[in-house]
Amino acid sequence: MSTSIHDTLKTVFGFGSFRAPQQEVIEQIVAGEDVFLVMPTGGGKSLCYQIPALHREGVAVVVSPLISLMKDQVDALLANGVAAACFNSSLSPREAGQVSRQLEKGELDLLYVAPERLMQPEFLERLAGLKLALFAIDEAHCISQWGHDFRPDYVKIGRLRGLFPTVPLVAMTATADPETRRDIIRQLGIEQARVYVAGFDRPNITYTVIPKQKPLAQLLAFLKTRRDEAGIVYALSRKRVEQVTERLRSAGYEAAAYHAGLPDEERSRVQDAFRRDDLRIVVATVAFGMGIDKPNVRFVVHYDLPKSVESYYQETGRAGRDGLPSEALMLFGMGDVMTARSLIENSDNAERVRIELQKLNAMVSYAEALTCRRRALLAYFGDQREHDCDNCDICNDPPQRFDATEAAKKALSCVYRVGERFGARHVIDVLRGAKGQRILELRHDKLSTYGIGADLSVVEWDNIMRQLIHLGYLVQDFTRFGALGLSPAARPVLRGETQVILGHPRDIIRVEEKTSRRGLSGEGPHGALFGLLRALRKQLADASGVPPFVVFSDATLVEMARARPRTEQEFLMVSGVGNQKLKRYGTQFLNVIADHGRLAGEQAQVGDYLESHPDLSDTLRGTLLLYREGLTLSQMVSRRGLKESTIAAHLEELAAFGLEIDLRRFVDQDKLTLIEARLAVLGPVSLSALKEGLPDDITYTDLRFARGAWNHKAD
Ligand code: ADP
Ligand code: ZN
Repeated sequence: MSTSIHDTLKTVFGFGSFRAPQQEVIEQIVAGEDVFLVMPTGGGKSLCYQIPALHREGVAVVVSPLISLMKDQVDALLANGVAAACFNSSLSPREAGQVSRQLEKGELDLLYVAPERLMQPEFLERLAGLKLALFAIDEAHCISQWGHDFRPDYVKIGRLRGLFPTVPLVAMTATADPETRRDIIRQLGIEQARVYVAGFDRPNITYTVIPKQKPLAQLLAFLKTRRDEAGIVYALSRKRVEQVTERLRSAGYEAAAYHAGLPDEERSRVQDAFRRDDLRIVVATVAFGMGIDKPNVRFVVHYDLPKSVESYYQETGRAGRDGLPSEALMLFGMGDVMTARSLIENSDNAERVRIELQKLNAMVSYAEALTCRRRALLAYFGDQREHDCDNCDICNDPPQRFDATEAAKKALSCVYRVGERFGARHVIDVLRGAKGQRILELRHDKLSTYGIGADLSVVEWDNIMRQLIHLGYLVQDFTRFGALGLSPAARPVLRGETQVILGHPRDIIRVEEKTSRRGLSGEGPHGALFGLLRALRKQLADASGVPPFVVFSDATLVEMARARPRTEQEFLMVSGVGNQKLKRYGTQFLNVIADHGRLAGEQAQVGDYLESHPDLSDTLRGTLLLYREGLTLSQMVSRRGLKESTIAAHLEELAAFGLEIDLRRFVDQDKLTLIEARLAVLGPVSLSALKEGLPDDITYTDLRFARGAWNHKAD
């Protein structure tokens, strides 16, 4: 093959440059070497074997664990004009026969197969008779028992290296854990493979953790500026998932629930609707995600505490695979920690309990950290950073410290007074002098610490208690429902020998405002055009039965909206546009961009016009702007809350001002013909004179528009 891999990158996939370490990996595989590639989700693993598949003779065999993922990959390749197919249990015998024939004739560049299918003896035999470009093992961690997604079917793949000793093999995973990595290499027998580990950072994801207070209200506040965006909300239990879904629906969001308790059909329906952008939000237990390759997930919310930093990172990693700015929001409540702990401690396996508690503790420390989130996360995965990231809640809004010595003394002595037998909630009630029945029964209203903390709100106390626990002054006994006790470190505080410095409770609303950026489709300078391009993409995708991201990624649409190409040549310059997509979609997208340009030009003229006509009343301006948005008459009526006749009079007046207003657009063509015939005879008479003799269903509004247009035409 004489074209370079750079040419292929541009002409087939539409990208201008490689990401690290794509180029090196591709060169290795093209040269016939084995490669082990560790790259985070969204890093761009697929190209690493897809380009070699086009540069080596024969068919590339790709092993992938999930049928839905295979189908997306194949659709995406076909859209780029690459001969690809999948071979799995979802095919009808006829389809399977067709794929077989393509395979025999050497017509395929890539074949995606499920592991159990690949390792069937007959299939292996057939492969042995073919020219093979390479083997690519996606989600290779599935082969390891250490990994978090072990699949027995994957174990057999370990035989491939021995069976096909001359075919290069590339194994890919996003797993960070070194133990698992070693195991994958051993199981696949690729000890000699070059190992590439791409950085784990996902710079386009903004990490935010806020204290969980009124979770539903907090979630709704977060979603408010993201109406048009796709996202996942993770919750711990099925029940919680159902509740949150219900609330989001009643607040007007397109949301659906996803959990293991739902029938298979319902789950695949939800997953499919989400992929096709027909559904904005999926509220899910962790059961949702592995089968999701959707690149334009804009946010991931953890409504409840994830059970480990690994799962948190994996789940948040489902946001922003397309590289565009995305959000990871976690609501963190002490109550969740207790729930999680008691679930873990229910197990009989002491070793598992120990490990899982450790993982949970790491998660809690992350959530409570007052240092850059990204540094904390990357450090957890062994990647120490020297600088703060400037793209997390702590960096954006550093917590302010305050001297909490007095408050801490009150809290600690109250814990002591209630006998170290009660949880934070009760201690706070006593401190604030609450009059609940329980307090009265326990005679805790008689304690010396009763009501001494009434100057602080529950939220403030909650924040203080939490930090006292985190800093080790208080210990929480999870075997006794989170009862608080004093640690030795509390004594010096109570004796007034130590100062306690805590972080201010983060102002949740402020954090939310800071983190809520304008959506891609929002009012940014290119927002309107982006919306139009997205609508066109959806229409084209539905017409060919593929998810919208197969047509173009969000990243490509954003760039299109910014660059506004006018020619095919310019269109081809947009990242993500290759030859095939130019051929297939170029004209349609270019037309939308050109139309939008004209409209924008007109709008600019309207702007100028308004500037130079200060005498145009505000109410006329209002109607003019709606007209320029292209609204129908009834839409204008409801937007302005005025009568139809008023709007009609406005439009007529605007036309009379000399503005280009197409009044005829508002009148039914048949009626227009009748009215115009009469105008030709009578001239511009009064509306009532005009109405005489015309059919009854012609309204005064119709007449007004027709007359206005006629007047306009006359001069
Ligand atoms: P992974 O399999 O590692 O999760 P993908 O292969 O699905 O990631 O790639 C993620 C996204 O990045 C896709 O939208 C893909 O088109 C895009 N991408 C990959 N490589 C490049 C590149 N060199 N330039 C621009 N975009 C790229
Ligand atoms: Zn940071």
